[in-house]
Amino acid sequence: MEKLKYERPFLKKMSAGMMDKSGTQQSEFTPVTHIDEVSVKQLIADYGSPVFVMSERKIRYNYQSAVRAFTTRYPKVQFAWSYKTHYNNAICRIFHQEGSWAEVVSGFEYRKALNNGVPGSHIIFNGPDKHRDELMLAVQHDSLIHIDHFEELYTLIEVCTEAGKKARVAIRVNMDTGIYPVWDRFGFNYESGQAWAAINKIVASDQLQLTGLHAHIGTYMLSTAAYGVAATKLSKLASECKTELNTTIKYIDLGGGFPSANTLKGSIGLVPTPTVDEFAEVITTTILNAGFKPDELPLLILESGRVLIDDAGYLLGTVLANKKLSDGRKATIMDFGVNIMFTSFWYDHMISPAQEASQFNEETVMYGPLCMNIDIVRECVTLPLLNRGDHVVVHKVGAYNMTQWMQFIAMRPNIVLIDLQGRTHVIRKAEDLSYLEQLDVIPEHLSTK
Ligand SMILES: *Cc1c(COP(=O)(O)O)cnc(C)c1O
Repeated sequence: MEKLKYERPFLKKMSAGMMDKSGTQQSEFTPVTHIDEVSVKQLIADYGSPVFVMSERKIRYNYQSAVRAFTTRYPKVQFAWSYKTHYNNAICRIFHQEGSWAEVVSGFEYRKALNNGVPGSHIIFNGPDKHRDELMLAVQHDSLIHIDHFEELYTLIEVCTEAGKKARVAIRVNMDTGIYPVWDRFGFNYESGQAWAAINKIVASDQLQLTGLHAHIGTYMLSTAAYGVAATKLSKLASECKTELNTTIKYIDLGGGFPSANTLKGSIGLVPTPTVDEFAEVITTTILNAGFKPDELPLLILESGRVLIDDAGYLLGTVLANKKLSDGRKATIMDFGVNIMFTSFWYDHMISPAQEASQFNEETVMYGPLCMNIDIVRECVTLPLLNRGDHVVVHKVGAYNMTQWMQFIAMRPNIVLIDLQGRTHVIRKAEDLSYLEQLDVIPEHLSTK
C-alpha cells in the first residue's frame, strides 16, 4: 500500500481577510509546477533557491502587443526601453532586438545602453542628475537629451559650446492631469508658464535644437484620461512652438506609467486596470485631433517599463519554517524577503504553491528570512498547507525588483532566462562573498589580523 504523505494538524482561526473582485477571500491554491514548460523543481535544483526566472516569450509577446496597440492607431511610433525597470543586459538586448530604443536616467545606464549596441541617436537621456561629462558623452553621440531644470539647460549650453556641437533636446514638462499629487518636481511646469520660458530659452540658443516635448506623469497610472490631458497639453505647446517660434516639434514623448496587472495593496476590486489598448486609444486620438498638418505629425515615443515586463518575471522560493505568533496567527518563513522583492511594499503579489497541494488551506503571514521586522512578503495570504522544503512561485515580479534589490543580510540570487526554445540561461550570477568584498578596502593600520 502506498504510504500517504504526512500532513501536519492545523487549527483554523477565522478572521476577515481581504476580499477579491468576486467577494470571496483571496486564494492562491492552484499549483504552478512549470514556467514556460520548464519544471519549477528542476529550476530550483539547477539554480538554487531563491531564484528569479524571466520568460523571454512573455517579454516579446508583451512588447509586440504594446507596439501593435499604438501602430494600428498612429503612423509614427517608437518605444524606448526604460532601463531602470530592468537593466540586466540580456533583458535590454531582447527589447533592442525587438526594435526598442533605450531610455536612461543616469550616466551608468547611458553607458550600458551604448555597450548594448544602441546607437547614440536612439538613446533618450532623462533624469535630474546628468553630470557634465555624461552630457558631453551624450552630445558627442547625438542623443536625445531631455532637460530637467534651468541649471542643466545652462550647463548643456556650455558643454555644447565646448564640444562645438549642437544638441538635440526636449524638455520634460510636468502638469496637472487631474491626478494628485502632481509630479511637479521633474521638469518644467506647464500651467505656470515655466515650460514655455524654457522653450524660449532653448529656441533662442545657438547650441540647442528643440526637437521634442516629454512628459512622464506618474507610474502605475489607472486613469487613461490623464494621458489625454497630457497629450493635449504637449500638443498645444508643440503648436505654439510652430506658430510663435517657427519651430517644428519632431516628437512627443509621453513617458511610461501604464500599470501592470499586479494588485496594489488595498485596491483590490476597486479600480479596474486599463489595458495598453485603452491608453493607446486615448493618446492617439488626442494627438490626431490636435490640428497637426499631416506631414508634421510628431513621432510618438513611449517609455513603458513595468507594463512590458512585470508579468514576465517570477521568483521561486522555498519554505524555511512555520510558526505560530503570539496572537494565534500562523506564520510562514520563506527564503526570500523584501531584500529582493522591493515591490512587496506596495503590491500584494500572487503566490502559488509549486507542488501538488494539500486540500486544506490556511491563512498565514508570509515572512522573509531577514532579521528585520519589516520583512513581510504578504501580510495575510490564504495558501494550502506548506511544509519546510516546499516551493512557491511568486508572480509578476519582473519590474523594478531586479534593479531595486538590496544586498542586505542575504546575497542576491541567480537570474535565469527561459528562451523561446525552453532552454535556460543564467543572465546574472548569484553573488558570493568575494563579489561582495572586492570593493572593500582595508586601511594599513587595520591590515594585521
Ligand atoms: C521610470 C520611468 C519610466 C518607466 O515607467 P513605468 O511606470 O515603469 O512605465 C519612463 N520614463 C521615465 C522618465 C521614468 O523615470
